[in-house]
Amino acid sequence: MSESAYDLEGLAWKFRSIVGEEDVLLNEPMSEHTTFKIGGPADLYVIPEDAAELAEILDICREREVPYFVLGKGSDLLVADEGYRGVIIGLADGLTGVTADDELLTCEAGVPLREASEMACELGLTGLEFACGIPGSVGGACFMNAGAYDGCIADVLSCVRVILPTGEQQTLGIDELAMGYRTSRVKTDNLVVVSASFALRCGDPKKIRAKMDDFTLRREEKQPLELPSAGSTFKRPEGYFAGKLITDAGLRGYQYGGAGISTKHAGFVVNLGGATAADVRAVIAHVQDEVERQFGVHMEPEVRFLG
Ligand SMILES: Cc1cc2nc3c(=O)[nH]c(=O)nc-3n(C[C@H](O)[C@H](O)[C@H](O)COP(=O)(O)OP(=O)(O)OC[C@H]3O[C@@H](n4cnc5c(N)ncnc54)[C@H](O)[C@@H]3O)c2cc1C
Repeated sequence: MSESAYDLEGLAWKFRSIVGEEDVLLNEPMSEHTTFKIGGPADLYVIPEDAAELAEILDICREREVPYFVLGKGSDLLVADEGYRGVIIGLADGLTGVTADDELLTCEAGVPLREASEMACELGLTGLEFACGIPGSVGGACFMNAGAYDGCIADVLSCVRVILPTGEQQTLGIDELAMGYRTSRVKTDNLVVVSASFALRCGDPKKIRAKMDDFTLRREEKQPLELPSAGSTFKRPEGYFAGKLITDAGLRGYQYGGAGISTKHAGFVVNLGGATAADVRAVIAHVQDEVERQFGVHMEPEVRFLG
């Protein structure tokens, strides 16, 4: 058991009284919860089933000043080999409800974005096709305004239900969310998304499906989906493409330990087998150094670091 600066057993007992015995895990390997398949153990991993349980868990962490982290699908995340000393609140297994009201699709934060996109298609609603291949959750997608091809979350989001750092719950409209390229108020103001409503439009299901199939094909052709990764590792530097800069710097296929730059898409750092978080960090640092040295461009990671 890792050493923690708080009463782990007492906290686990308290959480069990809220979410039940089975939904509180101790020393949970984060490699099981990230698409990189990397990450040491989290002290506590808690799975709330609804907004009330989520709010209660957040309150307790804040009152007791225990570090916590809200996790979606772990598809934009590199967790340290040492793991995380605190509470991971995993939303992808519990907050998974979806409701449709005419052209408004409301998803709880843990719903996979792909599932939201698929459901919209089945309902004959257009607008979420761009999201069909993004392996994140609805909450994580709102946090960073996920986007691909011809769309992003900000284009279709109507409002989100959030929990503020004070514990208060509020519904915020799209105009109040300051969404920009891979950012939002959810990110800057430390909000927790409980659910999101997407304003879609009625469309031709065949056209919607064809668009999704086209995006899927393009992804399969261009991205190393057969290897664990967190998608594009770097943000797009203004005026450049990350993948092209990395290729031009001669780093396509560069490897360190078990991690490397994909030969299929140089914008992806991939886990080639048994990579540690330290390996991935070393690859990222090397790319940053080389691209800065050769082209004077700073490569800012898109992937988030934890622990
Ligand atoms: C193969 C692959 C392809 C990808 N393609 C794309 C792409 O085309 N476009 C794109 O934008 N991204 C892409 N990504 C990256 C990733 O899927 C997105 O960034 C996604 O939005 C992350 O969501 P998540 O649920 O996995 O978030 P996580 O990785 O679980 O968390 C990321 C951040 O979001 C926060 N967060 C998660 N849920 C909530 C919540 N409910 N409330 C508040 N904060 C929350 C976390 O605290 C964390 O800081 C790709 C990733 C992979 C592996």
